[in-house]
Amino acid sequence: MVGLIILIAVVFIGAFIYNRKSRKDIKYKLAPGSKKMLLDNVTFYKNLDEVNRLDFENRVADFLAHTTVRGVDVEIEDLDRLLVASGAIMLIFSFPDWRYNNISEVLLYKGTFSKDFETEGAGRNILGMVGDGAMHRVMLLSKPSLRSSFQSSGDGHNTVLHEFAHLIDKADGVVDGVPEYLLSRPHLLPWIKEIRNDIDRMRSKGKSDIDLYGATSDAEFFAVISEYFFEKPDKLKINHPELFEMLEEMFHPGSK
Ligand SMILES: [Zn+2]
Repeated sequence: MVGLIILIAVVFIGAFIYNRKSRKDIKYKLAPGSKKMLLDNVTFYKNLDEVNRLDFENRVADFLAHTTVRGVDVEIEDLDRLLVASGAIMLIFSFPDWRYNNISEVLLYKGTFSKDFETEGAGRNILGMVGDGAMHRVMLLSKPSLRSSFQSSGDGHNTVLHEFAHLIDKADGVVDGVPEYLLSRPHLLPWIKEIRNDIDRMRSKGKSDIDLYGATSDAEFFAVISEYFFEKPDKLKINHPELFEMLEEMFHPGSK
């Protein structure tokens, strides 16, 4: 019986996530000057030591080997590819064997777009989106928002982190604000309780240091709070120590 449970667990994990060793190695060579571009644009990378920087570069290259970054009616540069991959890797950097198995392509738009992916006309207020249905392995991002996410690093907002947080949440089969790959079983219920309390508080007060968009659903709360955690960890720790501890345990397990 125990053997059966273990077998099921292995199949389940193998189906959705991320094991770098389980997939064929495809090589991708980072463009010349990538190291400098990362140093100049990605604070997370800049703050790493030499050994971890090299690891980060390898994981960025590995991400780009498996994920195409393409412009839709807009020119894109090596920097854009690097920034998309950096945001993706920042979230899972503490998990050396993880890789995103649920994305093949990132499309960059010249501005905001509508929920039907229109770039002209009314209703264009979306900066990023994880595709669904026929687009289920595609992420859409606004190129200006991609750039500004890293240019104004530390302001609490990063569209790339936001969308990849949704993708991690989605890896267990449902985008519900409960990223089961990041949460060990004893942490599941406390996490759900915590986010429901936070959302209730945000809704009743109508203001918060957490972006109010996070109060629209459990899924948006997880994406918004992930941005906050990576962009302004010190402030989050002061303002919401319990939430901070939970996110620390999720994204950097065993770091204490
Ligand atoms: Zn979202």
